[in-house]
Amino acid sequence: MQFKQIDEACYYFEAAVNVGYIHKDGKGFLIDAGLEAAAAKKVVKQLDSQNLPLTHLIITHAHADHFGGAHHLKEKREVKVWAPRLEAAIIENPVLEPIYLFQGTNPLKEFRNKFLEGPAVQVDGIVEEGRFNLDGVLFTIHSLPGHSYNQIGIEHNGVLFAADSYFGVEQLKKHKIPYIVDVAQTMDSLEKLKTLSINGSVPGHGNYEEDLERTIQENLDCHKNIVDSLERFFLQNGAPSFEESFQFLCREYDVQIGHASSFLLFRTAIGAYIAYLVEQGKARLDVKDYKLVIQSI
Ligand SMILES: [Zn+2]
Repeated sequence: MQFKQIDEACYYFEAAVNVGYIHKDGKGFLIDAGLEAAAAKKVVKQLDSQNLPLTHLIITHAHADHFGGAHHLKEKREVKVWAPRLEAAIIENPVLEPIYLFQGTNPLKEFRNKFLEGPAVQVDGIVEEGRFNLDGVLFTIHSLPGHSYNQIGIEHNGVLFAADSYFGVEQLKKHKIPYIVDVAQTMDSLEKLKTLSINGSVPGHGNYEEDLERTIQENLDCHKNIVDSLERFFLQNGAPSFEESFQFLCREYDVQIGHASSFLLFRTAIGAYIAYLVEQGKARLDVKDYKLVIQSI
């Protein structure tokens, strides 16, 4: 985990899951907390060694790899935790993530792991979109849903902490089918990023970049290609079942699914692409012989 300074106020800890940091007016704002206590400990150690304050934690969205370390921070320091609405409800009741991934069924123990369920954290305040004054320091909060229901990006001093609204090109190629819950919102958020006048951006997974254009375009192309593949599959295959469509896309993109937790994540993402085609009026859901089938229109 490398601590990198972007400008006089903004920094980030570069890791598999980046953690942002803003130092302003004697206050220290952490943006996300990493997967677990070990990551949070490294962050605190680094800040302490440079005499940098830690007073607030803003959580961009309720995925365990972004808030799993928050419990440790709150236990060890007097850190005020802020998060957007709905995401805050999941952060306070983290079993909701394995519940929704397991389609509402009470989740098996194997799904209640650190990647799908972080330790519960009490949220002290709700972050709202727009110009946002947090204990005297001004931020611009951007609503960037799609990867998660109510994800936010945080802009300060021209630097955007973009959460998982886009992935670095390398990470995008690794995932092949990125985790999202809503295609239209994901695309709208990506289009919105293009319009921001910022000096640079730190994604949740990837490097700080000043020129985002190519990375954003790669993300847009990736979603569009997946939608196109699925649409072609529906047109050529009558009324395939959800399972057949899932299998087709996983084979087509050569994704590796080694365990059931990973299966649940891909099922949710692929469900989002199918739902998008239904919302677009290009397909509809039917039930045939006890199977959920997708009929192209
Ligand atoms: Zn995420």
